[in-house]
Amino acid sequence: MNSGISERPELVDTHAHLDDQRLRDDLPAVLERARTAGVRQIVAIGTTANDSESVAQIAREHAGVFAAVGIHPNDASEATPTDWQRVLALLEEPNVVALGETGLDRHWDRTPFPLQQEWFQRHLELGRQTGLPLVIHCRESQQDLIAQLTQFQAPVHGVLHSFTGSWDDAQAFLDLGLHVSFAGMVTFTNRTLDSLREVAARVPLDRLLVETDSPYLSPHPHRGVSNEPARVTFTAERLAQVRALPLADLAQITTANARRLFNLPAEQML
Ligand SMILES: [Zn+2]
Repeated sequence: MNSGISERPELVDTHAHLDDQRLRDDLPAVLERARTAGVRQIVAIGTTANDSESVAQIAREHAGVFAAVGIHPNDASEATPTDWQRVLALLEEPNVVALGETGLDRHWDRTPFPLQQEWFQRHLELGRQTGLPLVIHCRESQQDLIAQLTQFQAPVHGVLHSFTGSWDDAQAFLDLGLHVSFAGMVTFTNRTLDSLREVAARVPLDRLLVETDSPYLSPHPHRGVSNEPARVTFTAERLAQVRALPLADLAQITTANARRLFNLPAEQML
């Protein structure tokens, strides 16, 4: 056992693409670095049927890793009815704790928007049936998401992941019942991101989560390189500054939120 671990505040990385080749090829070392950094649990995120099966398998093989299964809006155009059945079959597994990632994306045009909305609706309905939380992706589609969620009739159990919108958007998602998660962008030194830090300062503490979105969005001072779960510490440290809280408190709060939202058993750790 590494005796330094207990000195690091416990964190949960609520969004990591562990099946991405950049992480998967080096997975034991990636998980060990996470553990050494104080990351005790990771929610590994699926984006396709294949990828969902992979993250479920990773969660089966590694204590402290849990899986979200679903079809990402940018991958929905290639998904078949069989793919959805494969996602549904994974819900039997005890370490599958969430649905997603799902959502809407107007930035890339890989999937026609009405088809994205249809797939998002499927995930919403499945969330209602199963009680599992949703991991929601939003890119340049805040108003569309808010409209669809409102029509679905909130409250919705889940998280708006890697949040980058305005306070008005955040408030709308919070009113719909969602948690809000921040990734590496809150650490970037650009002054234009001060507005995002202002949003992060206002999200109610009981709805706040941290994530890496690895291998994307590596935080400062590792910006621009492949990201990994250990670096959620940089995002947590920056958020603690923004909230004027000791890191230990910010970590304790966000970790408790993640365990509650995803129903993570506290005894299963990296
Ligand atoms: Zn993601």
